[in-house]
Amino acid sequence: MLETTNQQWNLAHTPSGGLPSPTDFLWSEEQPIPDPGPGQLLSRTVYLSLDPYQWGRRCRGEERPGEVCHGRTVSQVLKSRNPDYAEGDFIFNTNGWSGHGLTGVGVSVFGYMFPRKLDPGLAPISNAVGALGMLGLTAYSGLVVQCRPQPGETVVVSAASGGVGQVVGQIAKILGCRVIGVAGRLEKCTFVTRELGFDACVSHLSGDLKRDLRDACPDGIDIYFENVGGETFKAVLQHLNKRARITRCGLVSQYSNIDGRDPTEVWFQAGQSTFERQKCKVFPLAVRNFVTEHQGSFLDSMAEWLKDGLVSYREDIRDGLENTPKVFREMLEGRNFGKTLIQVSPDPTREDY
Ligand code: NDP
Repeated sequence: MLETTNQQWNLAHTPSGGLPSPTDFLWSEEQPIPDPGPGQLLSRTVYLSLDPYQWGRRCRGEERPGEVCHGRTVSQVLKSRNPDYAEGDFIFNTNGWSGHGLTGVGVSVFGYMFPRKLDPGLAPISNAVGALGMLGLTAYSGLVVQCRPQPGETVVVSAASGGVGQVVGQIAKILGCRVIGVAGRLEKCTFVTRELGFDACVSHLSGDLKRDLRDACPDGIDIYFENVGGETFKAVLQHLNKRARITRCGLVSQYSNIDGRDPTEVWFQAGQSTFERQKCKVFPLAVRNFVTEHQGSFLDSMAEWLKDGLVSYREDIRDGLENTPKVFREMLEGRNFGKTLIQVSPDPTREDY
């Protein structure tokens, strides 16, 4: 039987930085579930993707107080008024931090067209917000398209066990590179080498990351895939080779800074003299710029790699929409382990359904 009321999280106010707190969000559980209009779909959220960029948007005022918090989702169609979609279809869409949502067909959000129909036979449907989704394309674009790795080169990636980092390192291995991860806790570092096959993984909690990177990269660093910024970046700078390439994908350690300075500018100033001395190429990354040209080839390659076991993907799936703000904060603090998802409702494609 269809539920009649919806649960959702709305943004309470524009946060002033720092880490998220429960008062930044408002819980609402009595919203009526709307009927789809012509061409629209009503869907039930199965998985909600939590991503560090969502916090940056909220702090910059790009999400308005009172709005449902933005988030990409994997959902199942409950009612369709579009001939291309049927009840029961699985779709990649943007219901946000909400149990249900209405989706228009052919809607562009940050350069992505929604919804996209999913084939549960191809890969777990949750992968649509991870390895086979925006995060996988981010890894592919920043590494393969921008940095053009060559066999034998040394690639370093930070937040190595996370949603983007684990894909970056595994693609670099497929391309014949020597790959070093940077992660936090020991169990993450062990996972990165044992399960993902990186050549080494060093911890930014060791107290001497600069030394550990020197030991792990005796030939220096040819490519750095930046996910965190801050102290990790400062240690990496010491080991960049001449003409190193750097993709600046994200600066998660700097998103919660509350000194009002633009994290990108702080990052660039820290690296500028090294970039000039070593003639480095720095590539900013906005994944939306790669969708039109590279999404097709990326999806083909990634589906093969997943099928052949060349890429594996760890997800950190937590239960219950009501827990979203808490899990969101934990992710930003590094207390996640793998791509962070909220299981909002049961996944009918799983064996344990
Ligand atoms: P992750 O799953 O990697 O989660 C964030 C991780 O960041 C944590 O698990 C933690 O890992 C690490 N971290 C947090 N604080 C610190 C710190 N102070 N120092 C070092 N590491 C820290 O997130 P995603 O894979 O989803 O995202 C990775 C990056 O990619 C983010 O910066 C995100 O904004 C960016 N991104 C950019 C896109 C673009 O278009 N440019 C698109 C998508 C993502 P650990 O415990 O190992 O330290």
